[in-house]
Amino acid sequence: MFLTKSLLHTTEAYIKKLREAGIETVEQLIGIFPRDIEDKSDIATRFSTLTITEKQVVQCRIELLTSEMTRNKKLLIKAVLVDADGSYAEAVWFNRKFLLQQFASGDTVLIYSQPKYEYGRLSFPNAEIEHPKQNRREIVPVYSDLNYIPWTWIREKIALVRHAIADVKSMIPGEIRAKKWMKSRMENVMAIHFPTSMEDWNRAKSELAYEELYQFQKRGIEKKYALERESTWLAPVIPLDTELMKSLIESLPFPLTNKQKIVLFQILKDMERPHAMARMLQGDVGTGKTVVAMLASVHTILVWRRQEKKFQVAIMAPTEILARQHFVGQEAWLMQWWIRADLLVGSITPRMKEDARARLKSWETDIIFGTHALIQDSVQFSGLGFVVVDEQHRFWVEQRKALEEYCSAGSIKPHRLNMSATPIPRSLALTLYGDQDISVLDEYPAGRLPIHTRVVKEEQRGAIYNWIDEEVKSGRQVYWISPLVEESETLDIASATNMQEILSGIFPHLTIGLIHGKMTGKEKDRIMQEFYENKIHILSSTSVVEVWVNNPNATVICIEASERFGLSQLHQFRGRVGRGSHQSYCYLFTTKEYKSDRLKAMEKTNDGFELAQIDLDLRWPGEVYGVRQSGVPDFHFADLRDTDLIAEIRQDIEEWMKWKKVL
Ligand code: ADP
Ligand code: MG
Repeated sequence: MFLTKSLLHTTEAYIKKLREAGIETVEQLIGIFPRDIEDKSDIATRFSTLTITEKQVVQCRIELLTSEMTRNKKLLIKAVLVDADGSYAEAVWFNRKFLLQQFASGDTVLIYSQPKYEYGRLSFPNAEIEHPKQNRREIVPVYSDLNYIPWTWIREKIALVRHAIADVKSMIPGEIRAKKWMKSRMENVMAIHFPTSMEDWNRAKSELAYEELYQFQKRGIEKKYALERESTWLAPVIPLDTELMKSLIESLPFPLTNKQKIVLFQILKDMERPHAMARMLQGDVGTGKTVVAMLASVHTILVWRRQEKKFQVAIMAPTEILARQHFVGQEAWLMQWWIRADLLVGSITPRMKEDARARLKSWETDIIFGTHALIQDSVQFSGLGFVVVDEQHRFWVEQRKALEEYCSAGSIKPHRLNMSATPIPRSLALTLYGDQDISVLDEYPAGRLPIHTRVVKEEQRGAIYNWIDEEVKSGRQVYWISPLVEESETLDIASATNMQEILSGIFPHLTIGLIHGKMTGKEKDRIMQEFYENKIHILSSTSVVEVWVNNPNATVICIEASERFGLSQLHQFRGRVGRGSHQSYCYLFTTKEYKSDRLKAMEKTNDGFELAQIDLDLRWPGEVYGVRQSGVPDFHFADLRDTDLIAEIRQDIEEWMKWKKVL
């Protein structure tokens, strides 16, 4: 039902403001949930009994109510208040014109506020004020202001449409609600807007949190089950050949880490089933994900070959550089098994693309490396059996959707392995990747040197510059990340350009390169290539640019204004170095928060999962790097940090789905 002036006893102006804020219907209005509740049951009558440590209600009289315009055009309303003892206090409001219509000198009122004691007198900042009512509610919800509508107005109007709450439907099946002794959503929404007690409100809140997480997780789990159903006997079964696998592993120049073995086994087990695999492999840069994916790919191709089945493997990367690097890095190793690899990216000539497509079609290609260009319409696999998506979180949502559609369109349902170098805590992973099984690689190959990380004060800059000079003299290279400029790519670029100039001044004998997000793919590739060839000594970069290329000779990364970044993001930056045999260093420049807990954590550990957990504890989950891009909704009640609840809900859903299937 649409909101109208008459329904809400209001003016068109308010209806318009609501509409601007996306609130057009009664259901949407009811969906504005309070952020807190306040207990107003104790009403004081004397100022002298109030404390300045919490909000309280006091009944008093307005001795004088005045208003004036301040110099910067704000309406200032002042009330001189007097209590039962005849003591005075003051309350002030800005831009609350409606107060002048509702209150006047001489009125007895209830003031609800946390008082302050200033200049020898008591004052009530941001006070709520109301006329004493006969049957006033004692526990009241507090909303947030919305598009310049004061929240008290919203509270009043929600009370007017209270009857509509009766139509609210539960999303949680009755069976689960019964098992958990949960109330209906209708009852909970009622209790949230019209609480009768603290306990009641808290219970409603936690059940609504359950419901939010339930809905979010259910989507993922349903997707997973649907994929399993749809792909039954349509996914290529790949029986594990242990002998073959052994010889593949032995052909590597190094032994696998234990975690790599575990993860590889999980993947191979998945591929033996007659359902399409859907697995997410999470692991920091350098933990050896690519190796695992390649082993699984080669095993698959060789097993198919023996079975005389014709399937192909696609390795997708989010950028051309990465795709190329994979191709170049793997080609020789693949050749020993007579596996024919190919590359298909946007920037190669149309002629080359044509050829690559033709080779795919005619089975000359076993494994193809590329970007999302691989799944464009004109690319026809003869039988795509296994897709590896590297750095999955860095694909656009549309690209991921396109891939999904591509995979489900064909008559064969390919196995899918997603990989992500953004470690996130398990609770988040379970929620975000609910449609997949999760594997974790949290062990580095032996002999890898941890990156020395130091938070640097302004005064210490000079020393660091000297030191960097030495490092470059001995042949190494440097990344220099400019501060993040909120919401403005243009400013971001300006700051990286500026940094390039500053660095050219400091290191006149060195070549300072620049890379930023507004450059074309070709330009970026050229710069990264020059950096790779050591033609650029120091690369000044914006924080948004993808310097995801592997340059083992780069051993120093400097991050300006590091306090502005989240931990996981800093950790991502740091992952640019430490990829070769030389000791690597990460310098976190900071002015404001010298040695904040966050930055100290960077000094302390190189473990991405640990840092992500700290980040999650310190910040809101939406800000944890890579989470926002993954499409987490804004939860009102739920806390993504609640690992136990998330796991519990997941179990409830799975149990219920199994039970449903039995019926
Ligand atoms: P990721 O894709 O997780 O960033 P890669 O698979 O690219 O990691 O591996 C990073 C580097 O470490 C590569 O040069 C790879 O050859 C090497 N590597 C991988 N696994 C091992 C291992 N078990 N022992 C030694 N080196 C390894
Ligand atoms: Mg990789």
